[in-house]
Amino acid sequence: MRKKDRGFSLIELIIAIAILIILTGLLAPQFMKYIEKSRKAACLNNIDVVIQEYQVALIENQKVTPEEVLDDIKPKCPSKGFYSIIHKGEELFVINCSEHGNSDGISTDPAVAAAQKAYNEMKDFVGLTHDETIKITGTNSNNTAIRDYLLNKQGGSWPEFDKQYTQKAGFNKNLYVQPYIFKGTSDYKRTDDIIVYAGASKDNTGDAWVAYLIYNPQNGLWYHAPDNKSTYRIQDKPWDVIQKDTIDNGWLPVN
Ligand SMILES: [Zn+2]
Repeated sequence: MRKKDRGFSLIELIIAIAILIILTGLLAPQFMKYIEKSRKAACLNNIDVVIQEYQVALIENQKVTPEEVLDDIKPKCPSKGFYSIIHKGEELFVINCSEHGNSDGISTDPAVAAAQKAYNEMKDFVGLTHDETIKITGTNSNNTAIRDYLLNKQGGSWPEFDKQYTQKAGFNKNLYVQPYIFKGTSDYKRTDDIIVYAGASKDNTGDAWVAYLIYNPQNGLWYHAPDNKSTYRIQDKPWDVIQKDTIDNGWLPVN
């Protein structure tokens, strides 16, 4: 049949091209989002590499600054952002990309890194919708249910608190970094009500509300009682009360 070898008719070609144009238009934003996501991931990975190199240098007892490590590695941001170091206290810094922001939450200090992780996980929970919250903790959601959920994500045990800090604070026992959230009137929706502390119980049984050390998310410091023995019961207290009772009343930073 002759008609068969003729290939596309003009109208078929126009329809095919029109479909392609529509498809491209539909997929382009998704595609761009995907590309941008990959670029950001690559960029944050660059930042991780610098932090790891810095930690290796510290372990090997080399005297380096994060600036020197950054200058040495010269990472390239895929979106052409440039990197800078923001210092937030001794040994505590974030690396910022002008395009992708920073890796806030990463500290070279393990005790601070553990606190930031606990804080961020509780913050993620607070960011969930009402329905998602109910799915996880049930309608009677309470601090214990939320902590059980987060503990489960950690494999059933809160991470051990840095031993050097424990000793510096005057305690001779294992402590564990864990988050707490005060309900208040907000149904667990205020990040201001997140508390991170070091307690003696590695899970949610036992004396869970006694804080041996308390983390201040505003400055990235861990605090302990000046007499090197007092503890503080955080149960049913919002962060501003805890802060007033402890830090404003003489608790000292351990880092
Ligand atoms: Zn970047």
